[in-house]
Amino acid sequence: MSERDELLPDVVAERVSAAVDSWLRWLPRWAPGTHRGKSRMCRRCIGSPVLAAAGLAGDVPHQVVHALNSRMQRIIDRAVDDYTERQLPTLHAELTGEQIWNAGGFEPGAGLDPEFEGLDLDPESEDEQPFLFTMAELVEQTRPEPPLPRPPLTSDEKRRLREEIDLADRVAHSVEQQLCFALASHQPRIEAAIGRFVEPQIQALLDELTRQLQAPPQ
Ligand SMILES: [Zn+2]
Repeated sequence: MSERDELLPDVVAERVSAAVDSWLRWLPRWAPGTHRGKSRMCRRCIGSPVLAAAGLAGDVPHQVVHALNSRMQRIIDRAVDDYTERQLPTLHAELTGEQIWNAGGFEPGAGLDPEFEGLDLDPESEDEQPFLFTMAELVEQTRPEPPLPRPPLTSDEKRRLREEIDLADRVAHSVEQQLCFALASHQPRIEAAIGRFVEPQIQALLDELTRQLQAPPQ
């Protein structure tokens, strides 16, 4: 992997800045409970170095941090996809083949806004109402049978594929580091936006809860 094959730090910084702008335009529309999607932290957000770089640790609502995290993940994915297409022919062929083989099924995660990307789309199953079907079942049911079994990879192809997966991982890691570095410089405006659009709403909820708890019994 040569230097010129990776994204330049300037390009990463530019994309990070544009993604933070996009998140700042979305944030004023956020309100507790008005956005579909899980409120619990997801695997993408727990312990995320990206969120740490953004200064979003602690008690900021998950939907708010997830919306920023997904936008950053898109930058990493795009960089890795571009690199794979240009430099990793075996992995690229494998991924393209996978797409052709699995095409035609129902894809509930396709075309989602970044706020919902990467979240489990099925509702939380804590309530008593059973669902008639889950998204996961629907995906399975609508997946067409592949026309032919896929030809197996030769041992040489398998070795190359492993090497290329390893390279793609390294590119992802390197882009993530550049991204975190660039994102850290946006901490002040991220913090200011949380203070302006999120904290007052959380405070209002807490005040309301306190009022209800302190209200004399009717
Ligand atoms: Zn999340």
